[in-house]
Amino acid sequence: MATPVLQVRNLTTRFKTERGVVTAVDNISFEVAAGETLAIVGESGSGKSVTSMSILRLIPSPPGRIENGEILFDGKDLLKLSEDEMRAIRGDRIAMIFQDSMSSLNPSITIGKQIAEPITLHRNASWNEAYEKARDLLSMVQIPDAQSRLSVYPHQFSGGMRQRAMIAMALACQPKLIIADEPTTALDVTVQAQILDLLKDLTQKAQTSMILITHDMGVVARYADRVAVMYGGRIVEQGPAREIFNRPAHPYTQGLLASIPRIDSDPSKPLPAIEGMPPDLSALPVGCAFAPRCPKATRECLASRPTLTQVGEGHLKACFNT
Ligand code: ADP
Ligand code: MG
Repeated sequence: MATPVLQVRNLTTRFKTERGVVTAVDNISFEVAAGETLAIVGESGSGKSVTSMSILRLIPSPPGRIENGEILFDGKDLLKLSEDEMRAIRGDRIAMIFQDSMSSLNPSITIGKQIAEPITLHRNASWNEAYEKARDLLSMVQIPDAQSRLSVYPHQFSGGMRQRAMIAMALACQPKLIIADEPTTALDVTVQAQILDLLKDLTQKAQTSMILITHDMGVVARYADRVAVMYGGRIVEQGPAREIFNRPAHPYTQGLLASIPRIDSDPSKPLPAIEGMPPDLSALPVGCAFAPRCPKATRECLASRPTLTQVGEGHLKACFNT
């Protein structure tokens, strides 16, 4: 098998807060193969964004710190690079798309200049060449009248258009990996689907790998090749998307799946939600972090913590229940 584009091994990231030390990401390992989309899914506060910020080395320090692990990209451990070497990778070999385009785009710089700038920086292109490329990218993300749109400011775009511009920016330098952190969560459902379809289509054409972070199992179903399910800063289940949907092994994943609306679900009945609250990361229980909410929990689950074990081809779960 070809070497994965990204290998994360035993990554642990902590924050020092007034309430104590928070282990936001606790010893997680996963890989992303060439051209593949890995979805990281979990409720709010499960450590998804901290995972993506750790890969990009954008954890604010203090209060945060990557305490342990390896992040192998292109055969190099990103955690061992200098800040300059890391800057050369960010936006070039690894690009990111965030949920909130309004805070990721600079409000006082035109869309054209913001897309062109990384091309001049990373690709040694002249501003003229970079603006031409920016125009082509805007057409590629299906923004009509791209030439004249180069000179507008972010607030003149709708939320959906800004997200398209973010995708254009992310693709500008033909990265090997795109990390899209809840890229469409702020948009309405129809626009969300259009944008994810576009992102999937463009990454597939360019054979770009993607980490797609979402709290929405519906999004996972439609776009992911493989899935890592996070709970309380840990990966509790991981595997090929088809396996996870056909044979979800962890009760938490089963709960997430039960809460997706289906064509055959009765619209008059509310979808079953997972009861209870996500765990407090500064005071995780000694046993399985999901046990307090788990319909299948036993005494064993409260007493000790299950580790990831294989349940199928490339399919792992951290649960004592069989
Ligand atoms: P999500 O899965 O919703 O993306 P995050 O990865 O953003 O969750 O956050 C996971 C946890 O990490 C948060 O609940 C919080 O406890 C902690 N955390 C994240 N950023 C910080 C920070 N800057 N300072 C302190 N704690 C933080
Ligand atoms: Mg997040």
